Amino acid sequence: MESSKVGSVVGLNSERERKSARSAAGRCVFCGIVEHRQPSNIVYEDEDHIAFLDIAPFSEGHLLVCPKKHGETIWEMDESEIGELFMLASRISRAVVSAVHADGFRFVQNNGEAANQVVAHVHVHVIPVKFADKGRFMERKKFTPEELKEIASRIRNELNRP
Ligand SMILES: [Zn+2]
Repeated sequence: MESSKVGSVVGLNSERERKSARSAAGRCVFCGIVEHRQPSNIVYEDEDHIAFLDIAPFSEGHLLVCPKKHGETIWEMDESEIGELFMLASRISRAVVSAVHADGFRFVQNNGEAANQVVAHVHVHVIPVKFADKGRFMERKKFTPEELKEIASRIRNELNRP
């Protein structure tokens, strides 16, 4: 009794729940980006990961790093996958900070609705921060599609630096 209760909180323990996750993947916005069905400003892609700009960024260069494999929360990944995701986020953070001349950055990784996870596909936010914004409440910023394209291209250039 107690273990099934825990299972339902953790999720995906039963075959039925796994099936529902697969059909959820079909409607998932981030899976759409992974499959290039959904437009986005991709800055990095490899076999298992993708990184693209947040459409409602808190700062210039705010991006998301995702595993390509659909899973709702970090509990659906094994430890090596979690390690790889954060190693990549760390690598990308250097390129972003340099591309937008930031002074620091935040990693934010929300799991579950209560934690303000908006898209139910694991992602790590990389949010560059400047001294000018230190201590300020972070608000969503508006960039034109052209500006976002230009920011993404600067980040890609930084990532491709030898
Ligand atoms: Zn997904």
